[in-house]
Amino acid sequence: MRSVSVFGSTGSIGESTIDLLTRQGGTETYRVVALTGGRNVRRLAEQARVLRPEVAVIAEEAALPALRDALAGTGIETTAGPEAVAEAALRPADWVMSGIVGAAGLVPGFRALAHGGTLALANKESLVTAGPLLMAEARRHGARILPVDSEHSAVFQALVGEEMETVERITITASGGAFRDWPLERLARATVAEASTHPNWAMGQRITIDSASMFNKALEVIETREFFGVAPEQIEILVHPESLVHALVTFRDGGMIGHLGAPDMRHAIGYALNWPARAHLPVARLNLAEIGSLTFAAPDPARYPALRLARDVMAAGGLAGAAFNAAKEVALDGFIAGRIGFTAMAGVVEEVLSRLSGSGGVGKTPSSLDMVLETDREARRVAGVVIAETSRI
Ligand code: NAD
Ligand code: MG
Repeated sequence: MRSVSVFGSTGSIGESTIDLLTRQGGTETYRVVALTGGRNVRRLAEQARVLRPEVAVIAEEAALPALRDALAGTGIETTAGPEAVAEAALRPADWVMSGIVGAAGLVPGFRALAHGGTLALANKESLVTAGPLLMAEARRHGARILPVDSEHSAVFQALVGEEMETVERITITASGGAFRDWPLERLARATVAEASTHPNWAMGQRITIDSASMFNKALEVIETREFFGVAPEQIEILVHPESLVHALVTFRDGGMIGHLGAPDMRHAIGYALNWPARAHLPVARLNLAEIGSLTFAAPDPARYPALRLARDVMAAGGLAGAAFNAAKEVALDGFIAGRIGFTAMAGVVEEVLSRLSGSGGVGKTPSSLDMVLETDREARRVAGVVIAETSRI
């Protein structure tokens, strides 16, 4: 029986993963080791009653008594707090979904690699903050990382049977987000509610807002570089409002292989769950005759400054990715809390990168996860200062 763990099981990726595990036989097919959630005790307990994990973990410490009550008499172990989440990752499982949002997903994913199994990586922040360390850790333990971002799963699938040296260019698509067609001058006044709706994908709130600002695509460019090992110049972004072509790979003979599919994360999750086999998956089939046409455009640099910042981060290398991601997370918190405007987020991130590179820290190549976590903390502190200055103006 295959053993599996799902980190971030109560989120958007987590729920889709639970859906597939359940459809593919649930406890008849899988021995579930750990399910972890952030705060939603009720949902975590429901999932645990169905999938019978060895342990159910809630990241919020204060929620432990409620989780204990909800699972009383089931024999399922209950734990709480960030340490307990990391401890759950030390329990061996053949397949682990890394579906926590943000830098909080880094340590559990990293730990899970030590068992040499498969890490299904939705948490792109892990590769942005600590790509070389994560890939080296996987190699060291003979573990496999499978990408679960739709674009990266698409590239991975286009590369089956191909040699990396024949790859000329990797193109990842972007819907353009909620504000693709807004006049630029209106962006500064965009509200949290407006930024939290995505034209094509149903996702967690944070990645949805990051799609509107294209910080999500900025993270994904770095994710592409780290996962596939290509040079920054080989990565292209194409605005594709229909979100049906997820990525394209151009080879040195001029041929391009693209990946199309309905915007449903259960495809990428299901591919990683069943790899190298392809299982029957409950995603809609495209009727291209009905769809008729697909459109593509180059991204407008004035509308999406995050894309330029991603290029700066790749050029700087070292710890710049960790600083970038942390500053982005704090800027996003600031926007959600109403402290800064939508367009101020990029300015905050740029200012944090510039202050940290001034102090000489971010160019260094990290030799340990601790260095990454230290940069993460420092960038969060500086971002807090920058936001306080910005919101005073
Ligand atoms: P979400 O907000 O819906 O869910 C996040 C999960 O992480 C929840 O279970 C939440 O409780 C948990 N969590 C949040 N903070 C935590 C913390 N500090 N410690 C422990 N657990 C915590 O997010 P999502 O949209 O499912 O995204 C998850 C990851 O997958 C992100 O890295 C995102 O970029 C990536 N991703 C998501 C999608 C998508 O369609 N939703 C697509 C591609 C990639
Ligand atoms: Mg994506």
